[in-house]
Amino acid sequence: PVAARAEEVWKVYGTGDARVVALRGVSASFGRGRFTAIMGPSGSGKSTLMHCLAGLDTVSRGTVHIGGTEVSGLNDKALTRLRRDRVGFIFQQFNLLPTLTAAENIRLPLDIAGRKPDQEWWDTVIKTVGLADRLSHRPSQLSGGQQQRVACARALMGRPDVIFADEPTGNLDSKSGAEVLSFLRSSVREHGQTIVMVTHDPVAASYTDRVIFLADGEVVQELDRPTPETVL
Ligand code: ADP
Ligand code: ADP
Repeated sequence: PVAARAEEVWKVYGTGDARVVALRGVSASFGRGRFTAIMGPSGSGKSTLMHCLAGLDTVSRGTVHIGGTEVSGLNDKALTRLRRDRVGFIFQQFNLLPTLTAAENIRLPLDIAGRKPDQEWWDTVIKTVGLADRLSHRPSQLSGGQQQRVACARALMGRPDVIFADEPTGNLDSKSGAEVLSFLRSSVREHGQTIVMVTHDPVAASYTDRVIFLADGEVVQELDRPTPETVL
């Protein structure tokens, strides 16, 4: 089963002299319960591909599916609902709300959706991510690694079809980065979560099942069971 899929996706920004072709017929499938990295040089289209997959940006041509839903065919209201209910996001800058506690940040997407966290799942996620004694802290009272683990718990709590992570370890030291990556990998291995991660870091990529390399808006290589050595 496929959790997300891009078929012959083209993305063109701007017109005339400002015209940029960011994606040139990209096709890629992201299997359910798999952890995939997207790598490639700056400007190769990684963020654009992820934004198109996540319904944050529209495609110029081609189709995108999340689960069984064709994202490229949805109106704005349905897109908002899809992003809210079926997609999780993790960002380089954590993007936590500074006035809320860790627990409040984690449950915010569920609150907005009018959903209640399942108690058993809540306990499992909080325990695995190692935040049980930090739940009433605000982001400013947490280290970068702890803040990113809060963001990971937030993304996972709603059991989305796919979690999209954009350079999730880009602002972390290697030890905190390893903790975040271990947590993401265990959520894939133990709970069948699907994760798509953009990264520049071969060590981060080595935590995944598969790497898709982009160059100049095209998929140029795919690598299964990557190691830091084979990614380089
Ligand atoms: P990355 O760190 O992935 O390379 P960028 O710094 O290229 O990201 O882009 C940051 C933000 O600016 C993104 O939201 C992207 O959509 C936007 N952006 C990137 N390039 C341009 C551009 N040439 N014109 C307008 N917006 C851009
Ligand atoms: P990456 O994430 O691999 O760094 P991006 O997807 O951010 O690459 O960008 C791919 C290309 O599209 C780059 O040439 C970038 O400048 C351009 N681009 C990205 N976002 C925008 C935008 N909003 N407007 C115009 N050009 C953009």
